Amino acid sequence: MDLTKRQEEIMSIVKDNGPITSEQIAERLSLTRATLRPDLAILTMAGLLDARPRVGYFFSGKTPNRLVAQKIKRVLIGEIKSLPVVVKDDCSAHNAIVNMFLEDCGTLFVVSDNNLLQGVVSRKDLLKAALGGKDLNSIPVGVVMTRMPNVVTVESDETLWKAAKKMAVHEIDALPVVRRIRMDDGSEGFEVVGRVSKSNVTRLFVELGEGL
Ligand code: ADP
Repeated sequence: MDLTKRQEEIMSIVKDNGPITSEQIAERLSLTRATLRPDLAILTMAGLLDARPRVGYFFSGKTPNRLVAQKIKRVLIGEIKSLPVVVKDDCSAHNAIVNMFLEDCGTLFVVSDNNLLQGVVSRKDLLKAALGGKDLNSIPVGVVMTRMPNVVTVESDETLWKAAKKMAVHEIDALPVVRRIRMDDGSEGFEVVGRVSKSNVTRLFVELGEGL
């Protein structure tokens, strides 16, 4: 959030002297209370200042950066996840490419018959297969995918911030959203329930930039 020069001055007076009444702030700035009212309302609504009746204004301790950080960390994967685009491991590299075009996505999740995550196939995996010079109809994605347990995943109750961090650290474009399932043999499976990608992060970034 961009503060005007006057709002910056108010912040600095309140930081140094708070709690302080609007009359006292107005006096220091040689302005009337009425002139200050809209600025005080903005600073209070933005959460930068707190106001208590008969006490006055005081600094909330929250900087604009901290408020943005709080907002980012409130967005949960469950609220923003997209539908996953999945294929079986015997899907050919050729059909995987067709799927990417049709679904307009750069990462496919490879699942078993009961929708459990087996792997991930990205554009680069398919380009690599194409460079080999073999017939792409005869290469199953199971051969070129990144396989479990090496797939980085996220769960619905995690934050988009945490997902973005995982994508940045592992240098990948998308994560399958999974639900853990206890299998009959006691092992753990991961049911694919969604997809989150760098596009979701870009969208949030744009929203934050608009100050929504
Ligand atoms: P692109 O191929 O378009 O550059 P990525 O950067 O996402 O896309 O993929 C790079 C590599 O990382 C590929 O080998 C891919 O299989 C792998 N990969 C993609 N997503 C994941 C993930 N969620 N977990 C682990 N590996 C992944």
